[in-house]
Amino acid sequence: MDDKNDKPLLVSKLDLSFREEIASQPGGENVKRCFACGTCAAGCPITDIDEKYNCRRIIRQILFGMREEVLSSPRIWLCLVCYRCYARCPQKVNFTDIMRILRYAAIKGHHVSAEMLSRVTELDRFSQEVRHDFIDHIFKPDKEIAEKIKLKIEEKLSV
Ligand code: SF4
Ligand code: SF4
Repeated sequence: MDDKNDKPLLVSKLDLSFREEIASQPGGENVKRCFACGTCAAGCPITDIDEKYNCRRIIRQILFGMREEVLSSPRIWLCLVCYRCYARCPQKVNFTDIMRILRYAAIKGHHVSAEMLSRVTELDRFSQEVRHDFIDHIFKPDKEIAEKIKLKIEEKLSV
């Protein structure tokens, strides 16, 4: 997954008010406490499948004022909101709620459409349904369940 985060940093585009904005919102208060230990990224299930997704890196970008890069990145929509990073953070940074703040800011700043939140909620439900059917299939392999999974995925891809 490529995005603006992969391009060279332009110092003239940094916006230090960004971190203050995040810190002023409920859940974002501790963002400046991050000391870049990386514990959050080490336990993140998304980092497990996409090494470019890194909580520590996103927090560094917020603190450096990389507003555009962060808010326009597709990566802020990958988080599963599992709170593992929050539970493990020695500084109680609460990256999960920071992600929620970033998503609303991305919509407010017109980096994505207003429907993005409901699409992600729908996608999360779909993933849970498919996971449920896969588990069912592992315990009771049968053609009917396999066909149900295939149809669900095809239906989602056609939207
Ligand atoms: S675990 Fe906490 S302090 Fe360490 S990098 Fe992540 S957010 Fe920062
Ligand atoms: S809440 Fe998001 S960023 Fe934190 S560990 Fe879970 S998936 Fe990763």
